[in-house]
Amino acid sequence: MSPSGSQPSIFSRIIAREIPATIVAETEHIIAFLDIAPKAPVHVVVTTKDPQYQNVVELAAGNPALLAELVAVAEQIAAERTHGQFRLVFNTGAAAGQSVFHVHAHVMGSPELTDQLGEDSLGTL
Ligand code: AMP
Repeated sequence: MSPSGSQPSIFSRIIAREIPATIVAETEHIIAFLDIAPKAPVHVVVTTKDPQYQNVVELAAGNPALLAELVAVAEQIAAERTHGQFRLVFNTGAAAGQSVFHVHAHVMGSPELTDQLGEDSLGTL
């Protein structure tokens, strides 16, 4: 259950292996999987196994070391799957496009440097 007493998030259900996902990285505290609706040639969701933080502001205040670990995993994924320059997005709040209230980053990029990410991908997450 989440701290508010609501149902587990879809990401908690992926972490529990209750629903399938293509997991691309996992540590003791972090898990990353392919976004089911990719908005870029590389689009990976990186999230905490701990569901208590709803967004990056809460995570930064409550456990900055865990935020740093999440960013390190995101960088590792980008190093493996993109040309090294990438977008790291934390939607924060429903009006900003957040639909899953379990802190997560979107790693977005392209394998080839010639493939530029359109600015429109920011608005359609
Ligand atoms: P946000 O809208 O920033 O909260 O991001 C949530 C993301 O989770 C969206 O980009 C969705 O496409 C993605 N998503 C939702 N359900 C799944 C799933 N079952 N497997 C993988 N990604 C998912």
